[in-house]
Amino acid sequence: MRVLGLETSCDETGIALYDSKQGLLAHRVYSQIALHAEYGGVVPELASRDHVRKALPLIREVLHEAGLTLAELDGVAYTSGPGLVGALLVGACLGRSLAWALDLPAIGVHHMEGHLLAPMLEDNPPAFPFIALLVSGGHTQLVQVDGIGRYTLLGESLDDAAGEAFDKAAKMMGLPYPGGPALSALATLGDEKRFKFPRPMTDRPGLDFSFSGLKTRVRTTILECAVDGVLAEQDKADISACFQAAVVDTLAIKCKRAMQQTGINRLIIAGGVGANKRLREKLRTTAEALGGAVFYPRPELCTDNGAMIAYAGTQRLLAGEHSDLAVSVVPRWPMTSLTPVDCVAVN
Ligand code: ATP
Ligand code: MG
Ligand code: FE
Repeated sequence: MRVLGLETSCDETGIALYDSKQGLLAHRVYSQIALHAEYGGVVPELASRDHVRKALPLIREVLHEAGLTLAELDGVAYTSGPGLVGALLVGACLGRSLAWALDLPAIGVHHMEGHLLAPMLEDNPPAFPFIALLVSGGHTQLVQVDGIGRYTLLGESLDDAAGEAFDKAAKMMGLPYPGGPALSALATLGDEKRFKFPRPMTDRPGLDFSFSGLKTRVRTTILECAVDGVLAEQDKADISACFQAAVVDTLAIKCKRAMQQTGINRLIIAGGVGANKRLREKLRTTAEALGGAVFYPRPELCTDNGAMIAYAGTQRLLAGEHSDLAVSVVPRWPMTSLTPVDCVAVN
C-alpha cells in the first residue's frame, strides 16, 4: 500500500510517500522558522497561510522524486491533531479532498503517534513492547507502548515541555529562534559543572516531570552573571551547558525508572528534542547499563515531518480504519484514547 502523508500541525509543512513493502519513498519538509523568527514564536494565522502556499508544490516534488503520479496512490494520511487548529485544517482539508477526488481512503493521524512510531522507519526497528520518551515542543511524556494504539501514559510534564524549556531558556539569553538547537550548539563550548542546576522531581517517586523551575534558575543565573545587563559569551555557553545537562540527566533518570518499573528495556526517543546529541548519548548508556537498547529516528525525523504521518496512517489504513468524509480536526486529543491495531508493515 502506497500512502501520501501530510503534516501541517504547527510550523513545518511535511509531505511524504510511504510504501508498506518498500518503505519510505520520498519526503520533504518545509520549515517556517524564518517566517516566525521576528516574532520569537509561531504566529498561528501566518502558519496556516504558509501551509496553504507550500503543501501542493511539496506534494508535486515528492511525487516527482518517487517517480509516481497521484493515480498510483492507495491512500492519504494527514495529521488531524493535536496542534494549531488553523494549521491542522489546511492539511485535513487538502488530504480529505484529495482522497475524495481520487476515490481513496483517507485517515486522520494523531501527531504524537506519528512521532512515537518514527523509529519504525529506520533499519532495525524496535520490537514491541517498548518505552517511549516523547520530547517535543509541546509534549514531554513517558509512554509504555505494547503495540500500535496500545499506549499507557506512565508520566508527563506538569508544566513546560522539554522543548519549550529549551526554547524559553535560549530566548532569555538572546539566542536565535528556535532556541533548542542554538542552545545545544552553544552548550558544547560551555562548562556544565560551573553552576549547580536542579534535576527537578527526581528526589521523589513517580515518572512526572517539571521544567519551569529550571527555567527560573536560568533567569536568576543570568541576573547574577550579567554585568550592566550584558551576559558574556562564556557565561551563555556555561549556562547552556548546565541547563542542557540538567534536562538530559532528569530525562535519563526518569527513563531508567520507567524501564525498571515495567521490566521493559527497549527505549525509544522521539520528538524534536530527540535530535539532541547529548540526550541520545546519555540514553544510550542508560539503556545499555540495564542490558537494553535505545532506538531513535534520524534527526530530521525527530522534528515534524510527513514520513511519520504516512507511516502511522499506513498502519491504520491497512488495518481497515479510515476517516469519514467530514473534514475534522482535534486540537486537543489524548493519545491514550486511540484504538489498537495490529502492526502489518515492518518498515
Ligand atoms: P509537538 O510535537 O509537541 O506538537 P512540535 O511539533 O512543535 O511540538 P517538534 O517539531 O517535535 O515539536 O520539536 C520542536 C522542538 O524540538 C523545539 O522546542 C526545538 O527547540 C526542539 N529541538 C530541536 N532540536 C533540538 C536539539 N538539538 N536540542 C534540544 N532541543 C531541540
Ligand atoms: Mg516545529
Ligand atoms: Fe511535533
